[in-house]
Amino acid sequence: MNRLKFKIIKLITRRAASNKRIPFRKLIVWEPWVGCTPVSEACKNCYYAYRSNTILEKTSDFARVKFTEGKSVVTGFMSDWFHPSADQWRAEMWRVIKDNPDVTFLLLTKRIERFYINLPDDWGSGYANVIIGVTVENQYHTDIRLPILLDIPARGRFISCSPLLENINIESYLKGIQYVSVAGEVAKRGRILDFGWIVSLKNQCDKFGTEMFFKDTGSLVKVNGVVEKVPRLFQRRKAKKLLKLIKTQLHQI
Ligand code: SF4
Repeated sequence: MNRLKFKIIKLITRRAASNKRIPFRKLIVWEPWVGCTPVSEACKNCYYAYRSNTILEKTSDFARVKFTEGKSVVTGFMSDWFHPSADQWRAEMWRVIKDNPDVTFLLLTKRIERFYINLPDDWGSGYANVIIGVTVENQYHTDIRLPILLDIPARGRFISCSPLLENINIESYLKGIQYVSVAGEVAKRGRILDFGWIVSLKNQCDKFGTEMFFKDTGSLVKVNGVVEKVPRLFQRRKAKKLLKLIKTQLHQI
């Protein structure tokens, strides 16, 4: 395939994948409940799993019923949207989501196998304003959770590799995925993120025209075999710099 043809195909697939663009600049964090219980290796250092004796508790966000039109709302960083202890509250929150059709809701989970529990009766092929995201940290959970994500009825899907703990292959799951976000672990004893894994994911995403965001490096990042400790304040900036490096290298090929 000549270079021009390749570029045109890439442009078309990229447009197709991003035809429903998410306004990331207008992102609001909405956590109607906090607290969690560990479910897999990614949770090892999770603050929200160990912060108190109460498994889950409602927050003031639970009472929030209206959001500004055009915004994107993300949830699932301080808990899990499908946590069993939230089954009693989820129906009410589905109603809030339905009542805000001009707001995009990004719901993040590691418990995608619980998707159907308390799903609204009128869900059909998915509410138009909901994008379901699944976190995977290693190949084992990639191969368990992503086939379920692709199988559920939803209008939009994303993958979060955070914290990424090893090199993973997600290529066979990328069709139908709007974007992939990647990050290292932010913790006192955070595990090392190898920059080589990011390069690999970027190559996989580029093949399918899927947007990849490298959000932050986490506390420890290994670049060319050397482990660097990155202060919290600079983790985002460092990720941006490294991503730029990949793009420059790809450009030179
Ligand atoms: S699922 Fe998320 S919030 Fe829950 S323990 Fe794991 S990392 Fe923490």
